Order: sequence, then C-alpha cells, then structure tokens
Amino acid sequence: MSFELVCIECGYTHDNSQYRILCDKCTGLLDTRYDIAPTVEARVVSRATGTARYLPLLPIRNSENLVTMNEGNTPLVRLSKISDELGLASVWGKMEFFNPTGTFKDRGNCVQVSVLKDTGVVEVAESTGGNGGNSTAAYCARAGIVYHAFMSTSIKSSQKANAIVYHGAKVHWIDGDKLDVEEATRNFSKETGILHLRYGENIYFIEGKKLIAYELPDQMDSMPDHVVVPVGNGSILMGIYKGFRDMLEDGRINKIPALHAVQVEEVQPLVAAFEGREWTATRDDPKSRATGITVKVPPRPQVVAQNCRETGGQVIALAENRILWWHKRLASLEGLLVEPASAATLAGSELLRQRGVIKQGETVLVPLTSLGIREPLI
Ligand SMILES: [Zn+2]
Repeated sequence: MSFELVCIECGYTHDNSQYRILCDKCTGLLDTRYDIAPTVEARVVSRATGTARYLPLLPIRNSENLVTMNEGNTPLVRLSKISDELGLASVWGKMEFFNPTGTFKDRGNCVQVSVLKDTGVVEVAESTGGNGGNSTAAYCARAGIVYHAFMSTSIKSSQKANAIVYHGAKVHWIDGDKLDVEEATRNFSKETGILHLRYGENIYFIEGKKLIAYELPDQMDSMPDHVVVPVGNGSILMGIYKGFRDMLEDGRINKIPALHAVQVEEVQPLVAAFEGREWTATRDDPKSRATGITVKVPPRPQVVAQNCRETGGQVIALAENRILWWHKRLASLEGLLVEPASAATLAGSELLRQRGVIKQGETVLVPLTSLGIREPLI
C-alpha cells in the first residue's frame, strides 16, 4: 500500500520512509493521505481479524511489522435503563476497556509502535504516567523497543506508574509537575538523539482510533444518530471521524453520525476553539477526577472543532458533579464501572438532550474508554 504524510498547515507532502511528527517545511502537524481505491475490497482484508483486517488504511508499510495483542473488536453493550432515563431509543456503550491493557490507548499504540518498528526506531522517550504510557510500555515491550518513561515522583506509588516499571521501561523520575517532566524529556531527547514520541501530536496514534468506527457496521444494523466522545487531545474523536469518512466514501455506511465532544468546565480549550474564543490554562494541576480529559493544550484544536461542526455535532463543557453523578449511575444501574472521563459522555448526552440537540427517540453511542477500578473511587 502506499501513503504519504501531508502537512495540515501548508500542504507540503513527505514520504513514509521515516517516523515523522512535524512538517519539514513549516513544523506544522501531519495527516495521512492514502493512494487506494475507494472500495471495500481494496480496504478491508476479509480473511484477517483485529487490526490486521484494516491494514490497507493504516500507515504501516510492511504487515510483518504489525505489533498486535489482538486489540480492538470491542463489544457493544446496550444501556437500556440509561436510554429510558434520557428518553432515547437506545444508548450503546463501546467497551474500549476490553483492550489488552484495559483502555482505548491500545488501538493508538498498536499503530504507533508498529510504525516505530516499520521505520527502524529501536529506542524512544516519552513523558508519561497514565493509561497512555501504560499502553505504550506494553507495546514497546512486545516490540522489543527500549522505552524511556519520564514520570513525576509525585505519582511514584500509582498503579499505572508501577505497571510501566513492570513492563521493563527505563524510568526517569523527575521532581516536579507535568511541565517539568515534559521539559526533562525534551532535553534528554535533544542530548541523546533518542526519538521523543509525543503520542498526542503524531498522526499514527490517531490513525489507530479509526478502527472504533470501522468495527461498527458489523455490530449495528444502522449507524447511531449521535456519538458522544470524551476529548483530551481529541484523538478518539479525530480517529472516529476519519473512520466514518472512509466508510462513507467506499459505501460501508450512508451517513456520518453527529460527533459531539465533551470536556470538563475546568479545562475547556476545545470548547473555546469550537466557539471561536480564547482560553488560557493556568499552571495548576486540574482538580477534576475525569483526568483523561484535562489536557490543557491539545495539539489539533481546529481539527476537532471542524470534525464536530461538519457532522452537526457540538463541543461542550460539563460540570464535575454531573460527571460524577453519571459515573455512579452507570455503575449502579448498568453494572459498568468506568473511569470518570468515560462517564462524562453520559453527562454530555444529558446536556445535549436538554438543549434539544439530541432528540427523543434517537440513538447514541458512547465509547467507554477505560476501566474504573484502576482509579481511586472516592
Ligand atoms: Zn507545513
């Protein structure tokens, strides 16, 4: 298969011979462009399962370099009581915590780490400590890639940090907050020449999320009217959008659902981008328990805003008490204990329903991104 990397700022194209994050010409971020027929036969490997099934539309040149743990193929579960409460025909949860390390991050890391292998990268560095780093550590371990994990000493006793250590990462403990850790990673990369992965910025991680959309036609009779997505960097939303767009092009679906993005009131740069206003972060650590959606400077705010706008969706901010209410509600009504960021999708559905954006009798799909028992509950 063939693809190139195109700058989203100036349109300059790059070949796929290297792992690239930024444009050579203007340092803008990159997107993929595939040279492939718009037919299902060309794009789906019918005899394969999991990520390999969709390899023709992934930025991996040699299928032998696919680093997979059978991520994906996550089940859908119907949330009947919650749909009744919201006056909807149905609410479906896509159980992303069925992935090998327990979160949706595995889809992005499968592709990102495969590209590392495909382009001959053997050692990487990243500032980390959460679900993303946990997953990267696992996939790097599997690929035999040395992973330098930079983490703040403040999270030394967390389960996720311990898992990163357990996967054999070379850990660099930094005294300081997130910004200090990022600076240390940048300096290390500059001094050693070891690739700084920057999973929030590179396009490969986003590409892996397309599969959430690709799997839906095999799971549902028709596409949902709305998909409500928790956004930090926005990779799930951008990936799902790309997946739907591909399928609209080759006829697998006949409409793209309205894509809505939800953030917390405390950290809402993407809401601001959607509404065309400024939003400035403070250095303080966010207090929200929906930690997955508290990214202060997401790299592609205009892309997220545009994806929502184009599909008739909204980007909204949610009160912490509504997120936590739905978090408890999901566990007590439907038996699903997820991370608060996942439950934010239901608080978002509620608000969009109140505003008349989601109408009575419509169907909604929400990705349930991560398992709740990995976080303290109170
Ligand atoms: Zn450029």
